[in-house]
Formats: sequence, structure tokens, C-alpha cells
Amino acid sequence: MITIKSDSQIAYMRKANQIVRDTLNLLREHTKAGVSTLELNKLAHEYILSQKAKPSFLHYNGFPASICVSVDCEVVHGIPSKHKILQEGQIVSYDCGAIYEGWHGDAARTVAVGLITPECQQLIDVTEQCFFKGVESIIPGVTRLGDLGHAIQFYAESFGYGVVRELVGHGIGRQMHEDPEVPNFGTQGHGMRLSEGMTIAVEPMINMGTERVDWMEDGWTVKTHDRKPSAHYENTIAITSNGIEILSL
Ligand code: MG
Ligand code: MG
Repeated sequence: MITIKSDSQIAYMRKANQIVRDTLNLLREHTKAGVSTLELNKLAHEYILSQKAKPSFLHYNGFPASICVSVDCEVVHGIPSKHKILQEGQIVSYDCGAIYEGWHGDAARTVAVGLITPECQQLIDVTEQCFFKGVESIIPGVTRLGDLGHAIQFYAESFGYGVVRELVGHGIGRQMHEDPEVPNFGTQGHGMRLSEGMTIAVEPMINMGTERVDWMEDGWTVKTHDRKPSAHYENTIAITSNGIEILSL
């Protein structure tokens, strides 16, 4: 079921997403070789609590941490650990969610650890551009989910990248994951129309190589099948009468 949000409900979601945005900025500032992903998790956890919000990932379906930290070939859902130490040249994806007054925010960024290859930098940049290619094409009440997915897929594939099929964006509101599913691929003219009052998380997960992914035995971590790098970029957006508002920027 799609839930349509009022302006006052979107205002709570704006606040939740600002907390997520600021947490991601804090993580970016602290990204350097030698830091453990568990330290970064602690930083994010404490910041979210300091903002009178709760980390929505903690204990979600049993997830054991407050953020997901996915390095290099890890696509999403990496579990922070004191044994996972960031190293120069890696790319690291942070996915963060917060609940404020019962409303959710959700966003993700991929960040370089020190100096990275031009190929990895391009992957990060194109993944971010995929989000904007998709979102900037939305005309409220006209654009369909298939149009949005197609815009993202078309741009990513023009670089020879793989668009992950098994994980998708989603509606968001009082729940972190609501209807509809928001794929990063699709066929123009298909799917439901994006209309006023909908709030969705758009989150391209783009692989340097194959689109195929593998699930690890920890039950969470998803890696690229060819173990080439993957990047993730996500924002929560609101579809309003004035167009699109990106709540987590
Ligand atoms: Mg997310
Ligand atoms: Mg999400």
C-alpha cells in the first residue's frame, strides 16, 4: 500500500533526513586509512542519538549495527567490525537511516579512502550522477517508476556498468521500507506514476563489472559476483506540487 504524506508529515521526514545527511557528512570527514568500520559505526550511532533520533538499521530484521559499511566489492549491508580496518585506495559505502518522531530518513554515500584509481573515482561519480539523471527527470503525476528506472539504467550502462537487479529503492515514511519498490532499471511508460505526497528512497547500486551479486554467509553482506568494486548513492525524496524535494541533501 502506498501512503501519501501531508506537508506536516514531510516536515518530520525532512528533519529525519537532515540528521542522516549530517551523519553521512561526519562519516566522510572521518574516513581515512587505519580507522575500523566499528569506530565509524560508533560515531554515527552517538551522533544520531545526540539529535534525539534513533538509528533505524540497529536490530532491523536482526541487523547488528547502526549503519551499513560496505567496502570495495561489497555492494550493500556490510556489517561494521573492529577487524575491518579501512585501507588507502579502497572505496567505502555508508548507508544510514534515522527515525525522528516516528518518521524515517534513509541515504547513502560512497567515499574514497585516500587516493583511489581513476576507474573507482568514475564509478563513484557516475553512481551519484545516476541518481540525479533519474530524479531530475521526474515530472510529478506524469513520470512512471519505469521511466525513473530506465533513466538510471540507461546512464549507468552507457559506461559499461552493471545495474544491480536484486536490490531496489523503496517507499519510506513511518516505515523504512514501504511500497512501492523503486528499481534502478525499467521500461519507459511502465509502472505506477509518481504523484504528489509520495516519499521514496532512490538508491542506485552500480557495479564496475557484472550486475550479478552474491549473498555472504553472514546473512547480510552482498558482494559483486566478479568481486569488482560497487558504489551506492541514495537520497530520500518527496514528490510535491512544486516538483521534487531531495530531503537528505
Ligand atoms: Mg539506505
Ligand atoms: Mg534505502
